[in-house]
Amino acid sequence: MPIRKTERKEGEIISVDIIPIPLGYSRSYVLRGEGVIAVDCGLSGKAGNFIKGLKTAGIAPEEVKLIVITHGHSDHVGSASEIKSATGTKIAMHSSESKWLENPAMPAPPGVTVWGRMFMSIRRYIMPVEEVTATGVDLLVGNEGISLEEFGIPGSVIWTPGHTRGSLSVLLNSGDAIVGDLAMNMFPLRLSPGLPIFAEDMSDVIRSWELLISKGATVIYPAHGKPFPVSKIEREIKRYKVCSS
Ligand SMILES: [Zn+2]
Ligand SMILES: [Zn+2]
Repeated sequence: MPIRKTERKEGEIISVDIIPIPLGYSRSYVLRGEGVIAVDCGLSGKAGNFIKGLKTAGIAPEEVKLIVITHGHSDHVGSASEIKSATGTKIAMHSSESKWLENPAMPAPPGVTVWGRMFMSIRRYIMPVEEVTATGVDLLVGNEGISLEEFGIPGSVIWTPGHTRGSLSVLLNSGDAIVGDLAMNMFPLRLSPGLPIFAEDMSDVIRSWELLISKGATVIYPAHGKPFPVSKIEREIKRYKVCSS
């Protein structure tokens, strides 16, 4: 069931259905306004779950016109090739990140907390096998991002580096932000919602959050775990700055 229902004001859509589709360890979000797009593709072997989730929401596979992949880790690109075949959709990724899908087998990011570092050393024992089938990226997103208006969604794709260099977020005009792994809210990653425990550059993570907040982000939809209010991140940023100064 959608978390948010489409709302209109003077005929214009101001917020869209946000439909989470569980894909095991991570989730995809399907956004339905005038058009339909999705964000992220889960681990490999999850295309069936994705299509089932679409059907439950009353969406035909071919209605999905774009899938924005927030970043290239295997738990976000794993089923991209299969989902692309099943829907005929286009895939969008940041230009510095597309190699993760076009040429999989990239290294994982370093842990940035004590648990993050431990997790990376034992993750092969607690996470499913990570396989990615290569496929082409149709729409390369630059640092300036793209508008989603032409796909019938009131919002944009914003470059939010930090977890990886080419991480993207989708920010809707309603303030709902689908952020991939720029936030995490799921055991065993974190016990409560907040900043990622793995990142290529934590200062970039903080800068990206400041950008999203300045652009009006209010409700955060992580790829791992349930949505939560942005105030949780604001508190963590303050704590991070105190600890790192
Ligand atoms: Zn990631
Ligand atoms: Zn992830």
